[in-house]
Amino acid sequence: KTEEQWRPFNKTRVYMSDLESALHYSLRVEVASHSVINGTDLTALRHYISVLKKYFPGRPPVKNALKAVNDWLQDQKGTSINYSDFRATLKTTSPDSYLPKAVRWVGCQGSKPQFRGFPCAMWTLFHTLTVQAVETGSNDPQEVLQAMRRYVGSFFGCRPCADHFQNMADESMDQVLSPSTAVLWLWSRHNRVNARLAGELSEDPHFPKVQWPPPDLCVSCHSLKPSGEHTWLLPEVLAFLKTYYSAQHLSHDYLS
Ligand code: FAD
Repeated sequence: KTEEQWRPFNKTRVYMSDLESALHYSLRVEVASHSVINGTDLTALRHYISVLKKYFPGRPPVKNALKAVNDWLQDQKGTSINYSDFRATLKTTSPDSYLPKAVRWVGCQGSKPQFRGFPCAMWTLFHTLTVQAVETGSNDPQEVLQAMRRYVGSFFGCRPCADHFQNMADESMDQVLSPSTAVLWLWSRHNRVNARLAGELSEDPHFPKVQWPPPDLCVSCHSLKPSGEHTWLLPEVLAFLKTYYSAQHLSHDYLS
């Protein structure tokens, strides 16, 4: 990328532009690969849109558009829908209801087009949704995680990624019993993925995979056992995640 195209950003912030871009890409590109949506895929789409409607910390017109799409899906009583009909509901545009129509990565920019972008924004979106569920007082610890599991299973374009994620979900997702534990579950699984992918060809050399948050983002999250082995201080990690991914802390820079 040339310097003019690069959008400088702050690593201590989450960007609404990445979250809106994730919505655009998932709803208009990934889901679009199914011309007819039925069975478990339709269930996955319903759950995904439902958690977005409840927890996406969006600008009012984006929240209105998500509510309209959710209402439309609830009105569909058959066992299948056509993507073209779904897409038509995304299109309804007015000053007080719209969904973004393009991607503009900021915190998820890659140093080359093949790096980062949507997969980065998908993680960012779901971390944000788990934190929003806590912030809004949800009492359903499984809601956001199961929506992610279903979405990834039905629609996530990277199929090996989906298989890995399903394995982790099968192993322990059911044991998550509170919304705060859901935040920590997703954080620790994401770190497992980071550890597995560190040094792989898919890694952007400008954004090496680390166990996150590194000390420069949260020094109090880290500790050493008497043996000298690294350990996470989970209450500190939870507090950090709840601030980092909170609605109040989101940056609205670069939004059009
Ligand atoms: P990402 O890992 O995408 O992280 C995005 C941002 O989240 C980071 O910049 C950081 O700010 C923050 N973050 C990082 N770690 C954490 C954490 N533990 N908790 C909270 N926030 C964090 N790629 C593969 O090659 N193989 C796979 O099997 C694979 N599985 C995937 C499964 C899922 C469900 C998803 C969404 C993606 C998967 N990917 C996989 C893609 C891969 O994980 C990265 O998204 C991609 O390589 C881009 O990496 P990134 O540097 O932008 O950081």
